[in-house]
Amino acid sequence: MRIVILGPPGSGKGTQAKIISEMYGIPHINTGDLLREEVAKGTEVGRIAKPYMDQGKLVPDDVITRMLEERLSQEDCKGGFILDGYPRNLHQVDLLDEILKRLGVDLDCVLNILIDDEVVVRRLTTRRICSVCGAIYNLINKPPKKEGVCDICGGRLIQRDDDREEVIRRRLEVYKEQSEPVLERYRKRGLVRDIRGDVGLEALPEEIKRVLAGCK
Ligand code: AMP
Repeated sequence: MRIVILGPPGSGKGTQAKIISEMYGIPHINTGDLLREEVAKGTEVGRIAKPYMDQGKLVPDDVITRMLEERLSQEDCKGGFILDGYPRNLHQVDLLDEILKRLGVDLDCVLNILIDDEVVVRRLTTRRICSVCGAIYNLINKPPKKEGVCDICGGRLIQRDDDREEVIRRRLEVYKEQSEPVLERYRKRGLVRDIRGDVGLEALPEEIKRVLAGCK
């Protein structure tokens, strides 16, 4: 299975990718995580990428694409992968095509997570983070035992700046602008499969199986 997963912030994309990775025994390749590793290791790619990442801008296509090709060429990707965070624009769609051609493989499907903006806004505005240990809570689904206090370390719970409603709505707009042309391109090729992003954690494996059964 060679899968690209697309979904807005707050859609549970990371969770879905993790479940798919475990269910099918394929690596979850997240370009944001790969870049953060490069930065942490202090590699040349990391040094080039950091200023862009710090400003929330896209890292130049040639830098990220070279890094991605190296990762997809590794042994553990031979049986497939789930790619998260790439492609983010039409040029990256072309670059991914070229990488896969060089590797002699094809994409099997592009998973598109469907979720209502209001569900995302509710999910993210009710998220709280411990200011000391970073534990994540949700006022509705996973509230702390004592209001405003971390169960684990007793630290104060805070709301991240980018979890404020106006910031979330802006991020959703940016995502739509970026992803629409990419989805359109893949739809024309018949690769896109829509998957629900609003099912609970228990129902998610079944939803994933149902949708992926239609791929290939
Ligand atoms: P993320 O964890 O997906 O939010 O990615 C963190 C940062 O890594 C982004 O803000 C970009 O600077 C960079 N990045 C991740 N994926 C890409 C990509 N496909 N193209 C360009 N930059 C990317």
